Amino acid sequence: MKKNPDQQGYYGSFGGAYIPEMLHPNVLELRENYLLIMQDPAFREEIAQLLSDYAGRATPLYYAKRLSESFGTTIYLKREDLCHTGAHKINNTIGQILVAEKLGKKRIIAETGAGQHGVATATVCALKGLECIVYMGSKDMERQAPNVARMKMLGATVIPATSGSKTLKDATNEAIRDWINHPSDTHYIIGSVVGPHPYPDMVARFQSVISAEIKDQLLVKTGNPLPTHVIACVGGGSNAAGAFYHFIEEPGVELVAVEAAGLGISSGYSAATTQLGKPGVLHGSKSIVMQTADGQVTEPHSISAGLDYPGIGPMHAGLFETGRAKFLAATDDEAVAAAFHLAATEGIIPALESAHALAALKQLEFAPTDTVVVCLSGRGDKDMATYMTYIK
Ligand SMILES: *Cc1c(COP(=O)(O)O)cnc(C)c1O
Repeated sequence: MKKNPDQQGYYGSFGGAYIPEMLHPNVLELRENYLLIMQDPAFREEIAQLLSDYAGRATPLYYAKRLSESFGTTIYLKREDLCHTGAHKINNTIGQILVAEKLGKKRIIAETGAGQHGVATATVCALKGLECIVYMGSKDMERQAPNVARMKMLGATVIPATSGSKTLKDATNEAIRDWINHPSDTHYIIGSVVGPHPYPDMVARFQSVISAEIKDQLLVKTGNPLPTHVIACVGGGSNAAGAFYHFIEEPGVELVAVEAAGLGISSGYSAATTQLGKPGVLHGSKSIVMQTADGQVTEPHSISAGLDYPGIGPMHAGLFETGRAKFLAATDDEAVAAAFHLAATEGIIPALESAHALAALKQLEFAPTDTVVVCLSGRGDKDMATYMTYIK
């Protein structure tokens, strides 16, 4: 499989742009310009400077000695938790705010579930002095009050989505409606490798800085830019897309994607999309979607808000279909146990999402000579209320 989709945005049979007629002009404008903008030398210089001085890149590739000893192999952690705002999401929002600027957009909209992408979007809008409107399910606004406060402090307007289940999918519908009503002055910053073409490819390219750095850093540390394994959690799939990107066309590197099994894959409370889903269209692209027999999207469950999504991006559907990546699932309890293990062995409290990637270490077998990279997508501060319920 190739790391980029074809002209129409397909990774094998997944991808494309399944959108209402009225969105065509916006999506077409983006499709015709994103690669040109990203190749422009002034753009490249500005993004490099912001990633370094504002977001704090390059993030360390940390040799986790005690964690490695506990698994009998060599494990490195890619420290996206050390990025400004505490996760990899800022890599994408910095890229997209610069694209929006180049396209002359004055108004930014975004959808958010737990609020992490909303905060990363509000952050770059403050940085650039652009108007920011974030759609969020009213139920999520209650559950994630601190992130709502963060967005407001950063100057964003947070609009509750009150239809349906009052969660992420309803917020996404509201954001799409807004974009249709503001076709010329507004850019929609999507938060993962999902949505109509060119979003999955554009977001993957912005996140690919993760694997570009891993290659450079491994070369310096080990003399070989290629690890044997790269492990990352998958919600929509943007941190995994970034961590895998420069290794997709390197067949010697095993790619491991970890989904949330919730209370158990067949418990009815899960977000293990590749295990439970079928091909379908969700949020503008064809992918694998958790759905009922008559095609209704089912409500997912995960202890981690960032993995609580009933689909995956089309790149990941392609990686699954071709067998290029191995897909595993970790339950809520396995993820929490892995988070406590990392905290105790390395003094790092991971985000609950990242803890799913760590949980996969137990499900794999490694040789002592292997070089394993785990993408630590975010930090655990935001999850302390959940972790506290496990502390006696
Ligand atoms: C949002 C989030 C995720 C899930 O999103 P992807 O697009 O799958 O990366 C994972 N980890 C953290 C810390 C997040 O905030």
